[in-house]
Amino acid sequence: MTEVINPATEALITSVDAHSAESTKDAIGRAADAFGRWRATDPAERAELLRAFARAVDEDSENLAALEVAEAGHTISNARGEAGNVRDVLNYFAGGVERHLGDQIPVAGGVNITFNEPLGVVGIIVPWNFPMPIAGWGFAPALAAGNTVVLKPAELTPLTAIRLGELALQAGIPADVFQVIPGKGSVVGQTFTEDPRVAKIVFTGSTAVGETIMADAAKTMKRTTLELGGKSANIVFGDADLELAAATAPYGVFDNAGQDCCARSRILVHDSVFERFMELLEPAVSGVVVTDPSLEEAEMGPLISRGHHESVAGFLEGVDIAFTGSAPSGAGYWMAPTVVLPKTPRDRIVTDEVFGPVVTVQRFSDEAEAITMANDSPYGLSGSIWTRDVGRGLRVARGVDSGALSLNSHSAVRYSTPFGGFKRSGIGRELGPHAMDSFTETKNLFIATD
Ligand code: NAP
Ligand code: MG
Repeated sequence: MTEVINPATEALITSVDAHSAESTKDAIGRAADAFGRWRATDPAERAELLRAFARAVDEDSENLAALEVAEAGHTISNARGEAGNVRDVLNYFAGGVERHLGDQIPVAGGVNITFNEPLGVVGIIVPWNFPMPIAGWGFAPALAAGNTVVLKPAELTPLTAIRLGELALQAGIPADVFQVIPGKGSVVGQTFTEDPRVAKIVFTGSTAVGETIMADAAKTMKRTTLELGGKSANIVFGDADLELAAATAPYGVFDNAGQDCCARSRILVHDSVFERFMELLEPAVSGVVVTDPSLEEAEMGPLISRGHHESVAGFLEGVDIAFTGSAPSGAGYWMAPTVVLPKTPRDRIVTDEVFGPVVTVQRFSDEAEAITMANDSPYGLSGSIWTRDVGRGLRVARGVDSGALSLNSHSAVRYSTPFGGFKRSGIGRELGPHAMDSFTETKNLFIATD
């Protein structure tokens, strides 16, 4: 049994049965048996089942959002958005079922036709930071492409995944086509990675676990999509809309209490506006409403667990804090939004992913230095650029080695656009028009005509 704790109150919500390696293998066996029937469904019927699943999610969205608030500490407004995202992603990939078709390629003496064949059983391993959307970004295209799915939620946050499994069943998705398997990463996740009947692993989580999964998956030649850590830059040029850049910088890093792989956790500011930017940033940070995440006004909730709180607090030992916002005291894993002025560019607070409500601010003197500093990281997931000069914005965007960038905004993730990382932020892309490619194999058939 795994205890599920409310991070805002430290109260026990419920306990969930943890699967063993044996019961995980049984589930994989059922998914493998169901694959032949699911891939053979009429595409129109499969699309309709996904739309029915989307409707069920929509009808249950207040309940799903309440579960996300309780187990993950997400603000209620974010949690509603996340339930809506699962609905949208199901509808988007339902639309892909009948459009993800092959080609015909004439050659001398005949014609080739290509088929996009599903892979088989897809194992999806989900972290605790965005339990609902990250699950949906995997299962929606996987199911749409005709694969069956076993999904392991994070131990800390299994409840929305379990509910999504129930909603899939209610919507008519056959029982063994989509199975939710709660349990430990070292047991359920490891079994997914080792079992030869699993064709592909979709993993979102830490770079360290991603590396292990990639190595273990190689032994059975599994396909992998890995979405890993980040340490993204928010680059503010002298000609930027400084008021807007400063007012939105807290959202860019403190959303979800900074437990976001896309967090813009390194602010880089041009020398000419550094002091002014800091003056504007201070009230923006103290204005972040950190409170009970079930309240409508909440803008930031607690950290996920006591252990994670200790890890984030460890990063703050001995650093120079410029200023902080506020946070509740008492029960719950609370931490105030914190702005740090690093002593050197090699400080751990600058180089390592903190995954909490902490941001560093550094200076740069020209465009080339801004790009060099942004790229001075093993990660390359996200980032923002603030400038009114479109040419500069495009040059810097081309120069920064990251998969999901935004210009004059902090919002780069949409279900209809590709998402994923450069360098050690991962391999592959989720979402967008090409996501179903990574859930199929291309088969070519040559037909002789002469
Ligand atoms: P984690 O420890 O890597 O865990 C992620 C998931 O993997 C959990 O379900 C975990 O199970 C499971 N797992 C752990 N060890 C495993 C193993 N040996 N084999 C298979 N599965 C295993 O990461 P986390 O602490 O939950 O999340 C924080 C990290 O995720 C951060 O570094 C963050 O940047 C990254 N992240 C990246 C993205 C992205 O899209 N790029 C999105 C979100 C998070 P348990 O629950 O049992 O530990
Ligand atoms: Mg972990």
